[in-house]
Amino acid sequence: MRIESQSGEISKHKVDALVIGVWADGSLPGIAQEVNQATGGALARLVEAKEISGKCGDVATLLAPAGVEALQVLVVGMGKPSELTRGVAFRLGATAAKTLATKPRESVALAFTSDWKDELVESAVCGALVGCVGQDLYKSERRLQPFQALHVWGASEGAMRTGRILGEAVNLTRSLVNEPPCEIYPAALADRIQQAMQACGVECEVWDKARLQDERCGSLLAVARGSSREPRLVIMKYNGGLPGEAVLGLVGKGVTFDSGGLSIKPTEGMLAMKCDMAGAATVVGAMEAIARLKLPVNVIGLCGLVENMISGDAYKLGDVLKARNGKTIEVHNTDAEGRLVLADVLDVAVERGATRLIDLATLTGACVVALGNDVAGLMSNDQTWCDTVKASSDAVGEQAWQLPMFAEYGEQIRGDVADIKNVGSGRWGGAITAAKFLEEFVAGKPWTHIDIAGPAFLERSKPYLDAGASGAFVRTLVDVARHWN
Ligand SMILES: [Zn+2]
Repeated sequence: MRIESQSGEISKHKVDALVIGVWADGSLPGIAQEVNQATGGALARLVEAKEISGKCGDVATLLAPAGVEALQVLVVGMGKPSELTRGVAFRLGATAAKTLATKPRESVALAFTSDWKDELVESAVCGALVGCVGQDLYKSERRLQPFQALHVWGASEGAMRTGRILGEAVNLTRSLVNEPPCEIYPAALADRIQQAMQACGVECEVWDKARLQDERCGSLLAVARGSSREPRLVIMKYNGGLPGEAVLGLVGKGVTFDSGGLSIKPTEGMLAMKCDMAGAATVVGAMEAIARLKLPVNVIGLCGLVENMISGDAYKLGDVLKARNGKTIEVHNTDAEGRLVLADVLDVAVERGATRLIDLATLTGACVVALGNDVAGLMSNDQTWCDTVKASSDAVGEQAWQLPMFAEYGEQIRGDVADIKNVGSGRWGGAITAAKFLEEFVAGKPWTHIDIAGPAFLERSKPYLDAGASGAFVRTLVDVARHWN
């Protein structure tokens, strides 16, 4: 998609669709006032008659209104000016794009206002790129069709470029998650990551099964054993900072398909399990954006890629595994495999010099029970670091909520035969006992775990986003990197 800045007389702008906004109290920002004048006051009359609402996210279409060259004007409710955040701007851009992408369109102009700050413009552009792409990768006729060109009124080059990079990164993550498990298995995903990283100049190292054995990744390898697809560990390295400076470590769970193993999932629970690599895909999207934005920060990204399957060689309940850091683990449930993969990957991240860590994983159904589908769980061993991550997620409008890490939860994963077991006693507090397990492998480094089991994959479409992969938390990770120093 071409993205261009535009200015001048809005009513003379020839375009398939012109997107403008209206505030919650019915007042029109400057550009919308120009459209109102050109149409002889039509907008104001429709607002007055309550045919057009300024409620955040509401949309109304004016087809071929007299006085403007645009074939249609889409009016989007923007809510209250005091509540206009980057998260809201993202959703406004995405709502407009999703509404208009239901038909092929050559050109769409975004003209919410002409005096938005860069961070709002970039969020709206990012949203527009994300909103017009759907999950129907294999439909003969796509339901959503990206436009050829996006014109952004009064935008700076920098804001448009940043918005494009963020939007493309989110869409990269979504596309990797939305593709089926027959296309995205560990070796294939590792190849895709290598290609993406090569294109943006990030060093990329891939460990195959033999290397993982040499590196004593016994916990990750046990999960991979039941599958005919061999595991991979991908290590991405971006050196935007100075040598010797602190290193941000991003770690993603990449279970390319999770059958549950011998603790097998029922059909309903298994259908969407191509999304169990969303943590890894999120790290990949964030690494791409961080590199393309040339952020002055050193980042390593690590993805543990396995398929959790069943065969005569599959790992069993009661097995005792030896993780890379030497800790022994009793397997009490083979569907609690993500933490077994992350255990070894976190250890490698620490060894490779990560000074502060974030891991992302579609880790537990318990987190969804606790917080619902739209909110991620945050768990941490370091309140300052957790606050930093939370501040970024708040700023970009990706919702997250912190869960406690009291020592009692850690007692629940003490093993009888080995050091620890891979699930707590009973199902209660399962999101937290999982985090307590991960904490055993971060060597005391400041670490924040983001359980994205809810928001990574939408069962139903939202007005601003098609169902399927959401790309949630790519923008949060990039924001953390932007505020690193
Ligand atoms: Zn599982």
